[in-house]
Amino acid sequence: MSNEQHLRQLLSHIDGQGYKAYKQIKGSYEFPDFNLYIDHVQGDPFALPSKVRLRVDQKRAQIPAGLWPNSVRQVALEDFIARAVRQSVQALVSPKKGSGKSGLVFIDAGRQEVLERTAAVITEDWVETRLQVGLPAAGRRILGKQATAMLCKEIPQIVEQALMWKNIDHEQCRTFVECVENQEAIYQQLDEFGLVAFVANGAVLPRVSGISDLPLLGMQVVGFRAPESLETRIEVPNHLPSGETMIEGLGIPKGITLIVGGGYHGKSTLLKALERCVYAHIPGDGREYVITTRDAVKIRAEDGRQVEKVNINPFISNLPQEISTDSFCSGDASGSTSQAANIMEALEVGAKLLLLDEDTSATNFMVRDARMQLLVHKDQEPITPFVDRVQELYDSLGVSTVLVMGGSGDYFDVANTVIKMQDYRPYDVGNLAREIVDEHPTQRQVETPESFGQVTARIPQAKSFNASRGRREVKIEARARDLLMYGSDSIDLRYVDQLVEISQTRAVGHAIYLANQSMMSDSATLQDVVEALEHFFDQNGLDALDPFYREEYHPGNFSRPRKYEIAAAINRLRTLKQKISFNK
Ligand code: ADP
Ligand code: MG
Repeated sequence: MSNEQHLRQLLSHIDGQGYKAYKQIKGSYEFPDFNLYIDHVQGDPFALPSKVRLRVDQKRAQIPAGLWPNSVRQVALEDFIARAVRQSVQALVSPKKGSGKSGLVFIDAGRQEVLERTAAVITEDWVETRLQVGLPAAGRRILGKQATAMLCKEIPQIVEQALMWKNIDHEQCRTFVECVENQEAIYQQLDEFGLVAFVANGAVLPRVSGISDLPLLGMQVVGFRAPESLETRIEVPNHLPSGETMIEGLGIPKGITLIVGGGYHGKSTLLKALERCVYAHIPGDGREYVITTRDAVKIRAEDGRQVEKVNINPFISNLPQEISTDSFCSGDASGSTSQAANIMEALEVGAKLLLLDEDTSATNFMVRDARMQLLVHKDQEPITPFVDRVQELYDSLGVSTVLVMGGSGDYFDVANTVIKMQDYRPYDVGNLAREIVDEHPTQRQVETPESFGQVTARIPQAKSFNASRGRREVKIEARARDLLMYGSDSIDLRYVDQLVEISQTRAVGHAIYLANQSMMSDSATLQDVVEALEHFFDQNGLDALDPFYREEYHPGNFSRPRKYEIAAAINRLRTLKQKISFNK
């Protein structure tokens, strides 16, 4: 390892030379307080910025081991450190003139969700953060002095501020880690309370806007308050802001829960919060004590999507022209067939809670009312509406549903819990709904020609995946949160609502490749494959996701996706071929 002095000399030596001369600074440098690893040097000022790691020995960093005795706390602490680094970058890095990405310092820290990510790592021996830096240039000429200012002045300041325990805000850090641990503790207790979700009193669910995930602030915000009859008290391991260790809120029981209420009264906002709260949230998000079972999947209509050999029989059968529904294929599914496929695929990989909103569902998939049943006879209607399957889903498969439905009372017959949103407040109207059912029996007929049956398992065919593009053997690229390029195939993830950031999308892409290389076989079902990936992440973390990864090297920017979103991406790959598994 060279030292800082050596780096300064190199930079002054290559000052003014062509950009390629930067390649010489690749290597590791010992600074007084930390090590700087320059793992990858960009080819030109416009290319992806160079990859560096900053590592501080715990002898100097002194982050107390008692702060992260378990993996939940470790993930939280790493996430916190990445945020602290980002804050320091924003405070310390001065804008530089130059071409392309000159002078940029980037860390892939999180937003509202707390996720396992590659941006920061803490071990007993050291703490490390992974950055990207734009090595400065004017045109294609190296700006050595600016590079020195960045690497030898700003970077050490960032280390000093964000990685040394003595300079970290202890109170803020503890609160963060304890809050995440509390969230996990509530999640762990959902089952024993018979719940699929919990929404704490005082939670702030609405967001600033449709394109911002920040909490809505101000006088108009109505804090959440559970109706007494559905209030649950759960104990958490660390003190809450109130000083207590008991938290109260709405417990959403297993079974079928209906969210009703007038338009604009907060129904979808509640459902969206449940959708997102399969992940932990940062203190101050407003949803940090909203907890949903990790096996919850948002289900929506997605017309136009690719569907490959899904058994949608429970919902759709007898299509015109004898189109198969026990192995349904389409390159352009309709609203109802896509929604049916989305449900069956979620069940296939283990979903335990389905989240549906009337706003994003196909009307004919949700219900068929009495008059329509008279006009269009069941013989001529391929769809068995969700209302006639939802109870069976729970009774025979143990899969619960939370459903927003302001437009049809036909769900009263099957709901176990009915919550009415009024002026953004939830009310328990279960008894009222049952009275209405008794006094105004539905005129509609239940339409279940056959029982739900088995969820068909499929085996993804390894040879239908091709990650190569042009001369590149592997070209996987997340263009945006909702657009993943896999080889020359583009996977449209616009309607995969629970994929929350681009680093998750990138991880999904590489996870598919990894699975394709080593986990797919003639007998491995899609569920086997995504579960093998979960196991891989548990064992190895995310560092080794990139196929070109080497140890002691910046691993790239990844955050951990759930198996449901990995499966969703595989299912949307246009080249995908699957085989029906007859064993399971
Ligand atoms: P619905 O689905 O019942 O039609 P939405 O959930 O879409 O209604 O909410 C309508 C509007 O009210 C949204 O702009 C949302 O941000 C806002 N809103 C939701 N909940 C609250 C709340 N608790 N306090 C203040 N505004 C809210
Ligand atoms: Mg709505």
